Amino acid sequence: MRKPIIVGNWKMNKTPSEALEFMKGIEAVLTGEEGADYGIGAPYVDLDVCVRNAKHLIIAAENCNEKDSGAYTGEVSVPMLKEVGITYCIIGHSERRTYYNETNEACALKAKRLLQDNIVPILCIGETEAEYDAGKTADVIKTQLAGSLAGLDAEEVARMVIAYEPIWAIGTGKSATKEIAEDCCRLVRDTVKALYNEETGEAVRVQYGGSVKPTNIKEYMACEDIDGALIGGASLKVDSFKEIIDATK
Ligand code: PGA
Repeated sequence: MRKPIIVGNWKMNKTPSEALEFMKGIEAVLTGEEGADYGIGAPYVDLDVCVRNAKHLIIAAENCNEKDSGAYTGEVSVPMLKEVGITYCIIGHSERRTYYNETNEACALKAKRLLQDNIVPILCIGETEAEYDAGKTADVIKTQLAGSLAGLDAEEVARMVIAYEPIWAIGTGKSATKEIAEDCCRLVRDTVKALYNEETGEAVRVQYGGSVKPTNIKEYMACEDIDGALIGGASLKVDSFKEIIDATK
């Protein structure tokens, strides 16, 4: 039985004081008895205040470096995240792949390092609009998964979360239909089964992401192979994130 997992992704939004205000608002409605995991991915400088004020929310970083320390100006390592109390970390988000050249190979190294310290990687994959239009979605999913999971064993992959996020649906309001989302999330699971084995594919939690809102979250959550969502815009306001929690608990 996979526990649903719904994670907000603030991206480059919210100062620490804004993060604190959000944490207070959301923690007030959570009891820990919801039957699903709820979390927030926050900028590095917000992580400490988020962790200190989290009772039930999972706090995720939005990136990490795979090396432990050294001359890598501007980077943050897994031991640093661990000490702050981080338990999840988003990797391979399409914005990082597009603007910061994060490759499948880098994702694989980051995932490996995170799992060593028991931090759950939330690995993002998904095709561009041009790839979608050209009918290449399945190829992209399989290639990104094979590359981003390289060097990981079945036990490690079973602990991960994989977010299928078609780039054409991110921040556009043009969410994928529940049929497309379910087909692609099933393909993610089937690809993991093909790369590893049946149990690993059944264990890994697969999220859909891309213009998820309070009004459409329920239809995604009703799909068999969708175990949760990664939510950008609708995670920025306490009210809309509360509505998403209410619709799924
Ligand atoms: P969105 O972003 O919900 O604003 O489309 C999703 C994401 O980037 O993870």
